[in-house]
Amino acid sequence: MNDTTRSNKIEQQLKNTEYALNVSSIVLTTDENGIIESVNDKFCEISKYDREELIGRNHHFVAVFSNEMEEVLRKGNVWHGEIKGIAKDGSSYWVDTTMVPFLNDNGSPYQYIAILHDITTRKQHETYIESIAYYDTLTQLPNRNHLHRWIAEHEKKVNEITTVLFLDLDRFRYINDNFGHASGDFVLQEIAKRLTQCLAETDLIIRQGGDEFIIILNNNHPNEVIIDLAQKILQQVSLPIQLLDKQLAIHISIGISRETNTADMLDSTSFIESLIKKADTAMLLAKDQGGNDYCISTPEQKIKMDRLFNIELEIKDALKKNEFHIEYQPLINLKNNQIVGVESLLRWSNQALGIVSPGEFIPILEKTGDIVTIGKWILWTVCNQMKLWQENGTLLQKISVNVSPIQFKETSFIDDLKEILNETQLDASYLELEITEGTILEIKDSAKTLEALQGLGVKVSIDDFGTGYSSLSYLKQLPIDTLKIDKSFIDNLDADGEIIVNTIINMGKNLRFRVIAEGIENKQQLDYLKLQKCHEGQGYYFSKPVKSEEIQKIYHQASKEWQLM
Ligand code: C2E
Ligand code: MG
Ligand code: MG
Repeated sequence: MNDTTRSNKIEQQLKNTEYALNVSSIVLTTDENGIIESVNDKFCEISKYDREELIGRNHHFVAVFSNEMEEVLRKGNVWHGEIKGIAKDGSSYWVDTTMVPFLNDNGSPYQYIAILHDITTRKQHETYIESIAYYDTLTQLPNRNHLHRWIAEHEKKVNEITTVLFLDLDRFRYINDNFGHASGDFVLQEIAKRLTQCLAETDLIIRQGGDEFIIILNNNHPNEVIIDLAQKILQQVSLPIQLLDKQLAIHISIGISRETNTADMLDSTSFIESLIKKADTAMLLAKDQGGNDYCISTPEQKIKMDRLFNIELEIKDALKKNEFHIEYQPLINLKNNQIVGVESLLRWSNQALGIVSPGEFIPILEKTGDIVTIGKWILWTVCNQMKLWQENGTLLQKISVNVSPIQFKETSFIDDLKEILNETQLDASYLELEITEGTILEIKDSAKTLEALQGLGVKVSIDDFGTGYSSLSYLKQLPIDTLKIDKSFIDNLDADGEIIVNTIINMGKNLRFRVIAEGIENKQQLDYLKLQKCHEGQGYYFSKPVKSEEIQKIYHQASKEWQLM
């Protein structure tokens, strides 16, 4: 076949094919080597090339073809699939493509014909849908769906270390509350940008939701490199951000978990999810330590966090389920060894967790805010108990109740207290509230609340005195009656702690506070405190906290027994 006859034949074939298909088809033919021989107008239209620019060019000129396609065609089979083409102006288009080889008598292709349909619009829709399904619209970062897909598709290599960083902005609510949600959005976009800039192309970062981000690194970097990265992130995030008329430093807390992929670990979804959980836990600890910091996950953390989680879960219904009760620890007048009063201490016993100490559960009640309701219940129960004792001849001079800062700053605190005193008919002068130095220093208007308490006739003592940063002369300006020297100082009396205790007692007495020593455990401590003329004492040496019935017994027997001390 000479060239002209061949060309005429092809021309004819093309016409026939085009006719046989519908007019909207885009058609292109190549020779056996992929050199473009002919194109129809539709192809020129979509590719934005003139016919002359295409004829004689290799088909790679208009698109990238897969090896798989080339392989199928070489064997003389029909190929069907989707191809992305690049137009003359650089824009791209998508075509649904059927490639048909025409075969010689010996079975080898002598020509290919490609019949194409424009699917660019459909592809654009798909891309858009993909972008909203897999990317966060605010920050343009990948989202959780993307992460799930990434995990499913990611090829896991044995002995590769996977590192997860879980990041959460510190006090983000403050920004939303004080600057508005538009500013909050702006901050998230800016932080997303800064985080991305700290990472390599191959690292994955997603916006987990709210102000949380997750970074996943698949490389065997040593720990130091990861710590450097965490420090770089802390530093970049902390650079000032302009918000309205203010420059603000935003901080972030980072939890890090790292583990090596092992051969027996088949399920990568649960592997990564468990790493994310561990990093999340470590992040919460970084926050607990004041934020703007990173923390690396350890197995002990997980146990600790699981327990806190269980406490939070169980304590929700504790009041309803009657799981709380109150114990009372005697306060002793050190001059005459008489019981002068009691401190009330909350106790919680739960079926699943057993007895949990207040040191563990009070911070959780404070975090959830439930301390407010429970605090009211405590005050009512304690005032009522004191009234009952008075009615049956257990005539204590005072009952003291610990008050959480969260409860103290409630606007209804004073009114609630008035109502409780009224309901239980307890004379306010028997009640003493224990607050910490932190409560006084950190709560705005604490002085006003203290004055209101004074107005009611309720006394106030400073608990754990010496562990905060308040000065005695400052406290003297406030209506405060009593200082309770923290147990840690009494513990140190055996060592060289006498001078501190001595100073607190003397200065306290000079400023006309009553002074109580907490946590007296042995005779030496007691003797020293007596020598220094400390007013009152409390501790296991006299009695542990006990149930209300026990207090009655102690009241009637104690003076005899304690006389010997
Ligand atoms: P706190 O008010 O300083 O109470 C004294 C703590 O020291 C109590 O622990 C008491 O049992 C313990 N203690 C007393 N004497 C000794 C001693 O000689 N040796 C030793 N090792 N410990 C002694 P507890 O009951 O575990 O309470 C811990 C903290 O929990 C309390 O410290 C208080 O801050 C808080 N808390 C307890 N009950 C309440 C409550 O009803 N409301 C609030 N808001 N907080 C409470
Ligand atoms: Mg106390
Ligand atoms: Mg104390």
